[in-house]
Amino acid sequence: MKAIVIHDKKDLRIEERETAPPLPDEVQVHIATGGVCGSDLHYYNHGGFGTIKLREPMILGHEVSGHITALGANVKNLSEGDLVAVSPSRPCYDCKYCQEALHNHCLNMRFYGSAMPWPHIQGAFRESINVLGPQCVVANDLSSGEAAMAEPLAVTLHATRRVGDLLGKRVLVTGAGPIGALSIICARRAGALEIVATDLSSNALAQATFAGADKVFNVADDTDALGAYSADKGVFDVLYECSGAASALAMGIGALRPGGTIMQLGLGGDMNLPMMAITAKELSLKGSFRFHEEFSLAVALMSEGLVDVSGLITHTFALADAVQAFETANDRSVAMKTQISFA
Ligand SMILES: [Zn+2]
Ligand SMILES: [Zn+2]
Repeated sequence: MKAIVIHDKKDLRIEERETAPPLPDEVQVHIATGGVCGSDLHYYNHGGFGTIKLREPMILGHEVSGHITALGANVKNLSEGDLVAVSPSRPCYDCKYCQEALHNHCLNMRFYGSAMPWPHIQGAFRESINVLGPQCVVANDLSSGEAAMAEPLAVTLHATRRVGDLLGKRVLVTGAGPIGALSIICARRAGALEIVATDLSSNALAQATFAGADKVFNVADDTDALGAYSADKGVFDVLYECSGAASALAMGIGALRPGGTIMQLGLGGDMNLPMMAITAKELSLKGSFRFHEEFSLAVALMSEGLVDVSGLITHTFALADAVQAFETANDRSVAMKTQISFA
């Protein structure tokens, strides 16, 4: 089978890998679709991020769906031919955080396509993969592209759960890439009254509008676009900071009202914080990292027609054109979510 392997920055290769029959608790999945995520792009563009560096060739990818082609002897509730969304969350279920049901903080997490541990955790951009039965969520009502959106949707569902009550709240989303757009969808679903989005790309802001934003502002054209929202100590109850840019965080904090909540989702390395404003406005600063049980909720919301992500998938490339897929995903002036078809 073929796999998409990163060797070094800008050195992406399609290589042959062995397949094995599934173990008794596993199923074999023929991957249908894989979504290119920001972390995949970091490995492609820079060979890693922060202190995390590639030290051996690694199969990329963690946003995948596919069809079950073989079942291990112990697996119930799944059938050959099922389309499944495959959760890349593989905690140990044994460490102290797993015991506390904080699976996303597992000390032995084996999240697909991650160079954090050594040896690296090989990813899921491959024609075939053996996964544990409980990693699979049946998604027969969805397209394989939608099913592959379960992972980023689960990220924003987890963040939305951590934000808390959104009924009737005013929400600002800074950074309207896929995570920003999905945050808009989740906040609306959770009852937000008004949602405003900012970005530097007019293409991203068009997608934010599709996702349900009531107003969008291009802060490349007008750095004071949120000025009116900053009067009288601010308007917004919640900021989803999805850009990872210190300037966006500072602008957003200026527009948050007293008692508001900052939900930091963007990963841009360490940033300076406007601590005086956080203190004086009594703001809450929250982080959010990955997800666990929200993965099956993501599939359920899409399957029930309560969340529609299909319009966010702007490009799909064949496996043979993987390099083109990564280059397109890099271009925010055209791409929102870029996917690779393994079918
Ligand atoms: Zn992702
Ligand atoms: Zn654990």
